Amino acid sequence: MSETRKYTDKQYNRRSGQSKEKAASDAEHAGRRAVVIGAGPAGLMAAIAAGRAGLPVVVLEKLPQPCRKLLASGGGRCNLSNVCGMDEFLAAFGRQGRFAVDALETLDCAGLRRFFAALGVATKVEEGGRVFPESDSSAQVLDALLACCRQLNVEFRFNTPATGLAIESGKAVGVETESGVIAAGAVVVAAGGRGYPPLGGGTGGYELARRAGHKIIEPLPALVPLVVEESWCGSCAGVSLVHVCIRLDHPGQSRAGWCGEMIFTHRGISGPAALDISGDVSVAIQRHDKCRLKISLCADSTFDEWLKRFETWRTREGKKAILTLLGRYIPSSLGGRLLAMSNIAPDLRASHAPAGPMEHLASLLTDLPLTVTATEGFDSAMATRGGVALAGIDPKTMRSRLVGGLFYAGEVVDLDGPCGGFNLQWAFSSGMLAGASAAKK
Ligand SMILES: Cc1cc2nc3c(=O)[nH]c(=O)nc-3n(C[C@H](O)[C@H](O)[C@H](O)COP(=O)(O)OP(=O)(O)OC[C@H]3O[C@@H](n4cnc5c(N)ncnc54)[C@H](O)[C@@H]3O)c2cc1C
Repeated sequence: MSETRKYTDKQYNRRSGQSKEKAASDAEHAGRRAVVIGAGPAGLMAAIAAGRAGLPVVVLEKLPQPCRKLLASGGGRCNLSNVCGMDEFLAAFGRQGRFAVDALETLDCAGLRRFFAALGVATKVEEGGRVFPESDSSAQVLDALLACCRQLNVEFRFNTPATGLAIESGKAVGVETESGVIAAGAVVVAAGGRGYPPLGGGTGGYELARRAGHKIIEPLPALVPLVVEESWCGSCAGVSLVHVCIRLDHPGQSRAGWCGEMIFTHRGISGPAALDISGDVSVAIQRHDKCRLKISLCADSTFDEWLKRFETWRTREGKKAILTLLGRYIPSSLGGRLLAMSNIAPDLRASHAPAGPMEHLASLLTDLPLTVTATEGFDSAMATRGGVALAGIDPKTMRSRLVGGLFYAGEVVDLDGPCGGFNLQWAFSSGMLAGASAAKK
C-alpha cells in the first residue's frame, strides 16, 4: 500500500477555486460521492449504475472526449455484445472466464439490449451472434449513454487524468489529479487497457492499481495482427480466406484453435481468427521468443478429405490444371505459393500429379506452418491480455480485496475476450456491477 495522501475537501476546493457554498455542498457530498476514473463504456456504465443508486458521481477522463474506443469499435458500428449463451460467453474468456459470471448475471446480453432499448437504441443480431445498434452507429450508443448520465447529473471532468489514489486507513477516500484531490466515498477504476494510445490506451490504470497494492499481470497486446517469419506471406498481402482454423503448435496446448476469417498482410496475418489467437501468441512469444502456428486453410476439410478430393480430380477432371482446381477452395495467388512449396508446377494436369508432392500439398492445406516473431504491438491492439490480477478483486462486487471503497471495471482487469462483442459486454457488465456495488459499500 503506498501513495497515501492526507487531504480535505477544503483543500481540493481551494485548489480548484470553487465558491464557499459549492465547497460546503461538496464536503457534504464527498463521503457519498463516487469518482469514476475513465469515461469509456465501463466507466460510463459504472457512473450510470452509481447515479441510479442515488450517489453523486464525478467521471474523470484524461482525453478531451469520452469513449474514443467505443466510437471506433466494430468499424464505427459498435459490436456491443454477443447473443451466445452464458457458457459460451465465459469460455470465450478462457481459463479465467468464470470470474465474469456475477457481472454477466447483473447485466447479460439480453439485459444490455433492454438497457439500450430503454435509451432509444434498438439493436440487431448479425452473423456469429454479434449485436449492433440498428443504426450501425457507435455515436448513437455514446449519445444515449451521455444523455443517461446527464439525466443523473453525472459530472464529467475531461482533460483530467487521475494521477493517484488517496488511501487512508486502508480505504480509498479520493482521487488525485493535477489540480488537487477529489474526495470520494467510492472510487471505480475503469481506465481501460494499453491498446491504441490515441484512443485512450495507456498504463495509467495499472499504475493506480499497483500503487494501491494490486498485482498487475504483465499487459500484452491482444486482438492484434501478427508478424511472421515467412517472407512469402507478404506476396499474398490482401488475400483473405473465409474459414481457417489457427492453433498454437506448442506442447501442452489444449485449445482446439480459433476459427474464422483470416487475411494475409504485408508482414503476416490478421483478420478475426488471427486476432482471436493473438493474445495467446503474445504470451507464447513472451515465453519462447517465437510462436509456431499451424493453420488449416479450409477448416472444414481434413487431410484425408483433401487426398480424396485430389483422387477425384485425378480420375474425373484429370485434364484440368491443379492450380485451377485448387482455385475452387483458395485464392490462386496463395494456391500458387503452396504448389511451389510442394514442388508441383501450377499448370500440371491433375491426372499427372505425383502422390508424394500432393500429400505435401494436403499437409500444407491442413497444417500450414507459420512462425510468429512479433505482434504489431499496442498501437494496433484492440484489447490487452493481462492487467489487474483477478485474485485481488471480488467478482461478486468488483470490489478490491485490498482497499476499501475501491472498485474495478472493464479492460483494466486481467480478462480479455475474442472479437464478436465480448469485450464491450464485459466492460458494460462489470461497469454496472462496480457502480451498483459502490452504492452499497
Ligand atoms: C479499434 C477498436 C475496435 C474495437 N471494436 C470492438 C468491438 O466491435 N466490440 C467489442 O466488444 N470490443 C471492441 N473493442 C474493444 C473495446 O473497445 C474495449 O474492450 C472497451 O472499450 C473497454 O472499455 P473500458 O471502458 O474498460 O476501457 P476504454 O474504452 O479504454 O476506456 C477507458 C478510458 O479511461 C481513460 N483513462 C485512462 N487512464 C486514465 C486516467 N489515469 N485518468 C482518467 N482517465 C483515464 C481513457 O482515456 C479511456 O477513455 C475495440 C477496440 C478498439 C481499439
